[in-house]
Amino acid sequence: MVVPESKDKLFHPPDDLQRDAHVPDFNSYLEIYRKSLEDPEAFWKEVADEFYWKKPATGPMLQYNFDITKGNIYIKCMEGAKTNMCYNVLDRHVKDRNLGEKVAFHWEGNSPEHHLTITYQQLLSRVCRCANVLKKMGVKKGDRVSIYLPMIPELIYTMLACARIGAVHSIVFAGFSSESLCERIMDAQSSVLVTADGVYRGEKLINLKQISDDALEKCGEKAPCSVTKCLVVNHHAVRTKGGTSCNKLQTPWDMKRDMWWDEAMADSPEECEPEWLDAEDPLFILYTSGSTGKPKGVLHTTAGYLLYTSLTFKYVFDHHHDDVYWCTADVGWITGHSYITYGPLANGATSVLFEGVPVYPHIGRFWEIIEKYRVTKFYTAPTAIRMLMKYGQEPLQKFDLSTLRILGTVGEPINPEAWQWYHEVVGQGRCPVVDTFWQTETGGHVLTPLPAATPLKPGSATFPFFGVEPTILNEHGEELEGEAEGYLVFRRPWPGIMRTVYKSQERFESTYFRKFPGFYVTGDGCRRDKDGYYWITGRIDDMLNVSGHLMSTAEVEAALAQHPAVSEAAVVSRPHKVKGECLHCFVTLKDTKEFNQKLVEELKKQVRDRIGPIATPDFIQNAPALPKTRSGKIMRRVLRQIARNETDLGDLSTLADPKVVEVLFSQRSEAA
Ligand code: ATP
Ligand code: MG
Repeated sequence: MVVPESKDKLFHPPDDLQRDAHVPDFNSYLEIYRKSLEDPEAFWKEVADEFYWKKPATGPMLQYNFDITKGNIYIKCMEGAKTNMCYNVLDRHVKDRNLGEKVAFHWEGNSPEHHLTITYQQLLSRVCRCANVLKKMGVKKGDRVSIYLPMIPELIYTMLACARIGAVHSIVFAGFSSESLCERIMDAQSSVLVTADGVYRGEKLINLKQISDDALEKCGEKAPCSVTKCLVVNHHAVRTKGGTSCNKLQTPWDMKRDMWWDEAMADSPEECEPEWLDAEDPLFILYTSGSTGKPKGVLHTTAGYLLYTSLTFKYVFDHHHDDVYWCTADVGWITGHSYITYGPLANGATSVLFEGVPVYPHIGRFWEIIEKYRVTKFYTAPTAIRMLMKYGQEPLQKFDLSTLRILGTVGEPINPEAWQWYHEVVGQGRCPVVDTFWQTETGGHVLTPLPAATPLKPGSATFPFFGVEPTILNEHGEELEGEAEGYLVFRRPWPGIMRTVYKSQERFESTYFRKFPGFYVTGDGCRRDKDGYYWITGRIDDMLNVSGHLMSTAEVEAALAQHPAVSEAAVVSRPHKVKGECLHCFVTLKDTKEFNQKLVEELKKQVRDRIGPIATPDFIQNAPALPKTRSGKIMRRVLRQIARNETDLGDLSTLADPKVVEVLFSQRSEAA
């Protein structure tokens, strides 16, 4: 790799960002990257020195076996060390760094009238009180606690309280159904569930306690339910309705099992000695988004996850003390775990925690919040960008976005069209866009630009983070050099990689390590261009094979999205007598545009012109909306079945809105 001098248009980091950046130019990136691979022991040891260790490590920074032919897969970081995650992200700042008065979170409610400020000192004392409540409920080290809470401060208190006492949290996104919650509780065998009475998401009231009760009832159908205590935050009653106890009466209640949060917290002590854990003791279980099949219960452990989320946060968002950082993800996803809770807090950062949705009570809500808190670093998903793009520039022009310095994206490939809009309209051409590629499994960013160092290409996740060694393999497992396209794999672990699938080492090994012995297989396709940039091309499972030509979903979708009428596109294959497979494209149009034959012809031509005749779509279907996971990702496996007219759709529990599927099925025959 050399400093890129590409024929492609590069977006270079702005000078003022480079001036005081942690990694100020591309050569510095290359130098640190080289060291991180040549001497990982020294590299990670230096990172670990920032944190508090009750007992130092006796083993190396990383020990592992990545080769299934040589025995079980394992990864260990800092064997012998004892520490506590909560101590490192809270006590260390309050006691050793004098940051007690610093704001940890600006909480912004669903309604703009509700907001709170929480300092590190306040966070620490509330976490300790919650930890004592959990202990009183009988939770011990190693026990699992399921958390089904909306984006409210109590969600952060509870997860850190678990970390403090060595309990393993399993957070379930509060948009999931009772079935999905039940499945995740049963899999984790949690002894406690923490939930809330209810929450407004936009204008919709969600009765979380009722859903929780249904879930627990389902859990108890075959064998006694593992959950014996349920802690309920009076969020809707107190915050939304102005708070009197009479509202509580409407909440279903089991006197033996259920306990109100405020009553439990009221007389709970503010001191709680952390449980000193082994470096490899589990920190949490989190289920993947379920885009490609049944979700996997990913297990992350203590020391390695701390090092990795902390370091990636610091470098990828070039964190400085006076930043106000906002990640719009839900804590129920890995992005929220790593880059709302652990990474930012490990750095003593100030963050916005937002309960609501981007377009309530008005379509400029995101921009209003950026202005209100003077946000400097903003991290969101392509799905949100594409949705907000539909409303044009006007909603942004009403607000002052001049504080923004870095923009980030995660979750799906970002099509260049959306990237440009994000860069020009949101970032006013001034802010680098860090397109961060990673997975629930990787714990933190693995391919990502560094904002002051990496010249950007729209749509590329650019280069590996420190300690990460990617490579591209072909179908036969051969490594491809130079310009190439194939399977994205990693040759060695970094501290934050998952340790196993909870209670299923077998699924862990077969999903990630069996196909290509010696490598962690991401399941994503990837292209390396002539300048060495990595481009995620979509899921390997979603690849299209037309007349023997392998094509990726991302490139065809990007070509469609370049048409001014299209707001979002998803492409799948369906059988074809001659070609083997052909392309069936679903397009969502911008609000005012009409779907007609002329548009269909234009779109087909556009794909043909940009990619080649081989990629010409056979079918284009109008999609008022696309099926997405609850974390906002397009579920192409469902679209593939619609295109093929297969009605047995398998596990749809992670689908956000089942009605979308019915509509697409009913309009299938109109595809042109
Ligand atoms: P499941 O594994 O259950 O099918 P999932 O893969 O969607 O669900 P996550 O761990 O939330 O679950 O998502 C990781 C995936 O998201 C990656 O494997 C990749 O496909 C996609 N992804 C994340 N960030 C990016 C990015 N910046 N560019 C391209 N793709 C991305
Ligand atoms: Mg996945």
